[in-house]
Formats: sequence, C-alpha cells, structure tokens
Amino acid sequence: MRRFILDLDYTIADSCILQAGGPSRIKDLDPVPGALKFLQSHAGKCILLTAGIEEDQRKKIKALDIESYFSDIYIVPTPEHKRQKLQEIVEAIRAKMIYRFSRIDIVIIGDRLDIEMRRGKELKCVTARIQIPGGIHSGDLPKVPFDHPDFEAKDFNELMLNYPALFA
Ligand SMILES: [Mg+2]
Repeated sequence: MRRFILDLDYTIADSCILQAGGPSRIKDLDPVPGALKFLQSHAGKCILLTAGIEEDQRKKIKALDIESYFSDIYIVPTPEHKRQKLQEIVEAIRAKMIYRFSRIDIVIIGDRLDIEMRRGKELKCVTARIQIPGGIHSGDLPKVPFDHPDFEAKDFNELMLNYPALFA
C-alpha cells in the first residue's frame, strides 16, 4: 500500500496568514486548495510530520479539522529534527510492508527542498513539492541533486490533476 507523509505549514496549511499575525491568526488558517480533498481521498494512508511549538501545531490541526485523516501525527521542535524522524517513520513503514522493494511505496509531500525533498530522496522515497503562491520556501532553488522533487505543483488540486497515477 502506498503511504503519504505530509508536512503541515505551507503544504496542507496556507500559513502565509501567520507571517503577519503570528499564532493569534491560527484560528483563521485556511487549507491549501485541494488539500482536504486529498486527505479525504487517502484517509488512513497519511502521516503528518510537522515542526514547531507543539501547542501551536495542535491548534493548526484543530483549526483545519484534519486530525482524523491521519494514522499518525508527529510534532518535532524544529525542521532539522524532521530528518531523523522521517527516517524512523520510513523504516517503520517499510518494516511492515510485504512488497518492501517497490520503488513508489512512500511519497513525501512538503514545501522544503532542503528538508523534506532531500531527506525523502536520501531515504529512496518519492517526493512531491508544494509551492503555494507567497510561501516562504516557494522560491527556494535546489542546492544538491537530491533537492529536485519528483513532482511539483502549486497546490493539491494541481498535483492531483497533473499526476493522477501518483494518487491512484
Ligand atoms: Mg512546511
């Protein structure tokens, strides 16, 4: 079975609103276009891995009402902590898979080339980059070959439209 490991800020959540208002704006947070449709279509196959202050991240998950779509939710203190956590999650999934040599077993979806995309490729996962308009990492350029994602889109609607086979 295919599994999806997703980032929260600037991937599922349009976190641009928080740049000006900070945590007080969390209640006004909107999902990135198509994100809820994606999660509804793949409920139970999705894992959330997000970095930040635990209380704030929990508030964001609640504001978007997305908790029930995930089999697991992990909150780590900083984006750098995601490297180790991603490895643990990927290894745990693969240990349970029967077809553990299939190439496209785990898809990492996030906005950071230097964290989610790079670590995903290091772990031999498929990577998909979300580049929302105005996102703080939407303009980032690849620094090493592993930074190049397998798939790119400005939101989940575009991702699902352009690469239907990825989500079949
Ligand atoms: Mg992010």
